Amino acid sequence: MKVAIYPGSFDPITSGHLNIIRRAANIFDKLIVCVMVNGTKSPLFSQEERVQMIRDVVSDIPNVEVDSSCELLAEYARQKGSCVVVKGLRAGSDFENEFSMAIINHKINPNLDTMFLTAEHQYMYLSSSTVKELANYDVDLSEFLPEQIIPVFKQRIADVRQGGKKK
Ligand code: ADP
Repeated sequence: MKVAIYPGSFDPITSGHLNIIRRAANIFDKLIVCVMVNGTKSPLFSQEERVQMIRDVVSDIPNVEVDSSCELLAEYARQKGSCVVVKGLRAGSDFENEFSMAIINHKINPNLDTMFLTAEHQYMYLSSSTVKELANYDVDLSEFLPEQIIPVFKQRIADVRQGGKKK
């Protein structure tokens, strides 16, 4: 059975992420979407909340599993019996980062390869941080976020704003 890992921050999951998940799930027997802890980012949603949001969004895709980890990706993949990491490649800056990460992961775990799926053109410039930026304005988010998570996302943005005002 070919198992692939799709790692990321998913803070929150966007329509671009979901597009990659659907396409990768068509290629592999099983896809594990893994929320990775990234010490350099301070997230809007907790790890558990992000896992739950992804589960809500992928519930119709039978061969997708959602997990979280604070381990090294190369080690996590080894434990899961996976030899493929899936990454989405957007226009611009993704290439440099992803290229070096793929090489480092392969060095740590020589059985592990990284497979890139190019972003669909309408999601080429979409990132979680762009959506968080847009949330400060009155913009329709339905093109950017899976519809199930829009209410939760808007509520969190409102709570953060409210918290900010209290300070
Ligand atoms: P970001 O916070 O930049 O949105 P993540 O760490 O959550 O990114 O991304 C996880 C993976 O998904 C990365 O491989 C990233 O390149 C990919 N990805 C993110 N957004 C998109 C998109 N709009 N289209 C395709 N791939 C994407």
